[in-house]
Amino acid sequence: MKRREFIKKAGTGAVATGALVAGAPAVHAQKTIEIAMVSTWPRDFPGLGTGAQRFAKRLGDMTNGRMQVKYFAAGERVKAFDSFDEVASGNAQMYHGADYYWKGKHPGWAYFTAVPFGLTYTEMNAWIRFGGGQELWDELAGGFGIKGIMCGNTGSQMGGWFRKEINSSDDLKGLKMRIPGLGGDVMAKLGASPVSLPGGQIYENLVSGAIDATEWVGPWNDAFMKFYEAAKYYYFPGMHEPGSMLAVGMNKKWWDGLSKSDQLIIEAAGGMENDVMMAEYNAKNGSSLARLVSEQGVQLREFNDDVYDAFGEASAEVFEEVKGHSSLAAKIHESFVKARKDVGGWMKISDQAYLSQRNRVLEL
Ligand code: CA
Repeated sequence: MKRREFIKKAGTGAVATGALVAGAPAVHAQKTIEIAMVSTWPRDFPGLGTGAQRFAKRLGDMTNGRMQVKYFAAGERVKAFDSFDEVASGNAQMYHGADYYWKGKHPGWAYFTAVPFGLTYTEMNAWIRFGGGQELWDELAGGFGIKGIMCGNTGSQMGGWFRKEINSSDDLKGLKMRIPGLGGDVMAKLGASPVSLPGGQIYENLVSGAIDATEWVGPWNDAFMKFYEAAKYYYFPGMHEPGSMLAVGMNKKWWDGLSKSDQLIIEAAGGMENDVMMAEYNAKNGSSLARLVSEQGVQLREFNDDVYDAFGEASAEVFEEVKGHSSLAAKIHESFVKARKDVGGWMKISDQAYLSQRNRVLEL
């Protein structure tokens, strides 16, 4: 090419580029990010599964399709409880799940979903965002090659489904119950046999009699599971999951390689799901409970103070064991206890006191 021609072509190119920039927003070409996301929930499972799927879709929508998330429900790529290893190994980039499923790897994981006598949704958010919770989560997860962010919450869970009334802690003895996390350890202290089954396997085990009782989430989700066909007594309040936070766990090496803006987009999408999922549970639980009672003959029962006192004593023993596991477990526990005291103390004279008076005056 002659020099004159080169200059001419280069000039034309520059003009064309200039016109393009003037007529369109200045978008820098960014490469597509392919994300394989596994999950601990059955496909389209209300609340947990649909929330995870909504998050996956949101990442695509927020980036005009630049983040391409391929979502795999439990069993579609790996089994529910293999989600952690799939991400830690780098085979997949993300999982959506409840981190207390990993308590066998380290008991500290339980605190980042829910623990007995733990934090409500409001308290949990305060701890994670302002009480040192996220930093401890990063420390724990980082040791496993994972980075976790908040991505959903079920709020206070019900105590569970039982075939017989629970009038004292003696009634829990010998009971085979599906209850994961440290709540299961509390039940074991009281003579029950806890098992941890993924959501997709609970119904068959309850109906067949392989388990005597189960907890799952709350009225909206539990009605969908049809547990009332096998157990009529539905107890509240659950001591074991007062505000279960769901998480997106990401392969840490992959996360560290993302741009700051992509990290913020993922955090924003997760934070939004944390809010949206809680709103959905709160919007749907009440009417679902009313239908369970009126249409399915479900017997609503409240755990009495004696049973709750026994839960409290057993929990104290479980927490002593957790603290003895490692210095990190003890550090997480101490931070959580401080948040429960600080934030819970404020809740007592704000939300709790107000709700108690409002509901008394209006007879709600
Ligand atoms: Ca549960």
